[in-house]
Amino acid sequence: MPDPVARTLDEHREHAVAMVSPLPSLDVPLDDAVGSVLAADVRAHLAVPPFDMAAMDGYAVRTRDLDVLDGVPVSLAVVGEAAAGTGTGTELGAGEAVRIMTGAPLPPGADAVVPVERTSTGRFRAGVAGVETSVAVPRLDRAHVRPRGEDVMPGDLVCAAGTAVTGPVVAAAASAGATSLRVHRVPRVGVLATGSELVASGKPPAHGQIPDSNSHLLAAGVRAAGAVAVRHPSVGDTITALAGALDELTADVDLVVTSGGVSAGAHDVVRALLDSGDGRLSDVHVAAVDMRPGRPQALARWRGVPWIAVPGSPVAAFVSVTLFARPTIRRLAGCTTSDLPAVPRVAATGWSSPPGRVQILPGRHRPDGRVEPAGRDGHLLSGLVVADCLVIVPAEVDAVRAGDPVQVVVL
Ligand code: AMP
Ligand code: MG
Repeated sequence: MPDPVARTLDEHREHAVAMVSPLPSLDVPLDDAVGSVLAADVRAHLAVPPFDMAAMDGYAVRTRDLDVLDGVPVSLAVVGEAAAGTGTGTELGAGEAVRIMTGAPLPPGADAVVPVERTSTGRFRAGVAGVETSVAVPRLDRAHVRPRGEDVMPGDLVCAAGTAVTGPVVAAAASAGATSLRVHRVPRVGVLATGSELVASGKPPAHGQIPDSNSHLLAAGVRAAGAVAVRHPSVGDTITALAGALDELTADVDLVVTSGGVSAGAHDVVRALLDSGDGRLSDVHVAAVDMRPGRPQALARWRGVPWIAVPGSPVAAFVSVTLFARPTIRRLAGCTTSDLPAVPRVAATGWSSPPGRVQILPGRHRPDGRVEPAGRDGHLLSGLVVADCLVIVPAEVDAVRAGDPVQVVVL
């Protein structure tokens, strides 16, 4: 068994991400694009808004008519009504006003809207149109108009390639005239837990057995990163079972993530397979990453499909999926930037950190914004359950004191 290669956390992540390229792109209807990543810039076909429109219910007026008597309400003749979706074709003459509702096009000649509550009318009654023949309005500057193209003009960039498509993105694209979006295909990621002690959740474990929790953790992490999780039933610690499961999964996925068996134990099956020289393997890379938890890691290809192997301890598996699998999936999906940047915070309490290793600790924000370790012990799933961030303590720090600056990845 060759020794694992010593790697920093950043080196291992960069290596994992470099194994993949963005998936091919396709055109999909707007609603189907949510959750994918834009493969091309979205440019506006239409101006937003497409015409000068009222931003309030009130009266469309000519500012010139209001300029004459500073401070004194001006009486204007009400000559029509513009509702959202229709508008009036008639040009506004001197001394005239048009009732106008939010979203209606401004009549030709008008350049401002005076809110109804500031006029002698006070309020409009729903369902009742055009009763008053004149209205007294205070002097106002051009106001409460959303000018054509206020948001975007035709040809403007609505959203850049590499952006994750969300509700606001499809809404912005729809308002600018798009009916479909060019997005990257959504990655399919195989999830496989290894360990002879594992039983599928729901089955009662015999003595020595435990429920498989990691496959749920991995599947959730894969989905949170924007991929479809393809779960395989867990396999015991035999090379044939693991190889068979990898054969099945890699027929159908863009990436495989396995948990467990990557250390140097007598039954560490992932490690054994990686060391076996099996012809289906390539680019095998067994690493000792300078982090805790999650030191033993491996990267390889199985039948050409990239494979990220993470350790089995649930917190280590979660940390590894978040720091290594997630950015790899984001790149496959077409993202151009990291979505989980480390940000500065202040420690609310003190704790010790392993010397010479980057410590990754489930953390939680206090109401004052400072962070503390989450749960009773950083190695327990119960801590992750209440965590809202991962605190990252550099290798050279062996004790964090209350008030110290720390970096966190917000979950
Ligand atoms: P390993 O990385 O295979 O040496 O496993 C390390 C620890 O994590 C052991 O205590 C395993 O029983 C546990 N473990 C491994 N895989 C899982 C899993 N899928 N679900 C829950 N615990 C696991
Ligand atoms: Mg194991």
